[in-house]
Amino acid sequence: MAWLLLSGLALAALAGGERSARLTELTAESERLHAVASQRVDQHDAHLTALSAIAVAGAEQRPDLFREVAGAIMRFYPRIIGISLVPLDGEDGVLEIGVREADLRELIRSAAQRSTGAPVLVRYPSDRPAYLIVKRSPNTDAARFGLALIIDASALLDGDSAYWMQAEATRRLALPDGTLLVGVTGNGHTPQFASALSSGTQPLELKTAIRLTVSDILPPGRVALVLAVIALSAMALRTLGRQRSKARAAEARAELSGLETRLSHASRVNALGEMASGMAHELTQPLTAILAQAQAARHLAARGDMDRVARILEEVIGQTRRASAILERLRTWTQPRDRKAEQIDLRECIRVAETLLSAQAAELDARLTLTMPSTPVTVEGDRVELEQVLFNLMRNALDAVVESTGAREVAVDATRDGEMVVIDVSDTGPGIRPDVQDQLFTPFFTTRESGTGLGLALSLRLVERAGGDLTVVEAREGARFRISLPLARTAREAAE
Ligand code: ADP
Repeated sequence: MAWLLLSGLALAALAGGERSARLTELTAESERLHAVASQRVDQHDAHLTALSAIAVAGAEQRPDLFREVAGAIMRFYPRIIGISLVPLDGEDGVLEIGVREADLRELIRSAAQRSTGAPVLVRYPSDRPAYLIVKRSPNTDAARFGLALIIDASALLDGDSAYWMQAEATRRLALPDGTLLVGVTGNGHTPQFASALSSGTQPLELKTAIRLTVSDILPPGRVALVLAVIALSAMALRTLGRQRSKARAAEARAELSGLETRLSHASRVNALGEMASGMAHELTQPLTAILAQAQAARHLAARGDMDRVARILEEVIGQTRRASAILERLRTWTQPRDRKAEQIDLRECIRVAETLLSAQAAELDARLTLTMPSTPVTVEGDRVELEQVLFNLMRNALDAVVESTGAREVAVDATRDGEMVVIDVSDTGPGIRPDVQDQLFTPFFTTRESGTGLGLALSLRLVERAGGDLTVVEAREGARFRISLPLARTAREAAE
């Protein structure tokens, strides 16, 4: 639509431009013609003066001289098609060179009698595009002759310009009173150039016009060029627009990816901090155990009880392995992790956590009860991570039962539920304070003096990584945390 409008405007501008160019050309050609014609009519005055002088000097006695001069003038100026000398008082002594017609004499006579000094212009009395310029001679009231030059008006306009050959260019020449000499009347178009010839005696009206056709003002070649230019511009604009919006989209993408990079960096840094703090938290356990066991071993070694020392050293080795596994996790956390999902029997993870906590449970006089299916409950995930989750939940439970006045019991209950395995870790502690329920899984949120607030946050992250979920569920007494994990595919198939 816009392009149509633009094309319309451009063509209108082209037409306007062409039209004014054509008119300028017409004006220039007309002015040239006007100058030439004005010069030509001026010469007639000189001829009239010369011929009048001869006539007054004795045309009657020397008609041959008059004829000779008149003939010479006409030869020299072919547009002068006749020269007549007509006595005002009769037919005797009429001298006619060139065109001669009886009714011309009367015309010349009456024109000379009308003259008050200035030559009189008369239309030639036929279709011939000619006029007579009549002077009385001598040029006084005692004039005896009428002297006339008969002029082919069309020859006044002769020239070498091809411009006037074209049918569209028209010229009109008229006597000052409007009598048409050359050209056509009423051909429909108003003159675009009109000017009287600059002559005192023959101010003939020159009028010209050019008829402009559609192909004149809209030359097909230029129209095609203009349309091509517009089409090319439109295409260029569109391409430019596309490139711009592409560039803008690219910028937006770059900005977004920059934002993403910053965000992911921030979250990595955050997670790393979380993890490092968590590691310290988790490492405290095996290190404390190693310290206690090493002290006991030193004591037993002093007593020479090498059997028990060997057993304790076994436990130390186990705790050390656990510590190094935790450190290994820290390493893999910080590096791009290529986790090969392992098939794990969750019952083993539960037992590992129980082993790690049994000493503490005994110390606290708390009972750890495990209820598990007799067949493997296999999930896909990271063994150390899932052990860590169970360890965290069971240790939290032990921490909680200490605050209870009643029985100190921690129960771990693993069951299959369709394609899922559900492990509930419940305790007989005071339960979760209602005001902290929403913040449990927020990193660093803790109600314990020595707590880090990372246990649950980390556990949730690790369970989610294994494709599962960790939630708090309603319990009759104490707290109950529930781990739900999808069973490994092979385990599900075996169960079916
Ligand atoms: P931390 O143990 O270092 O405080 P956690 O993320 O493991 O960090 O626990 C966050 C908070 O959740 C604890 O401070 C405690 O208020 C609450 N909580 C966790 N487990 C239990 C539970 N078994 N019984 C009651 N409250 C618990």
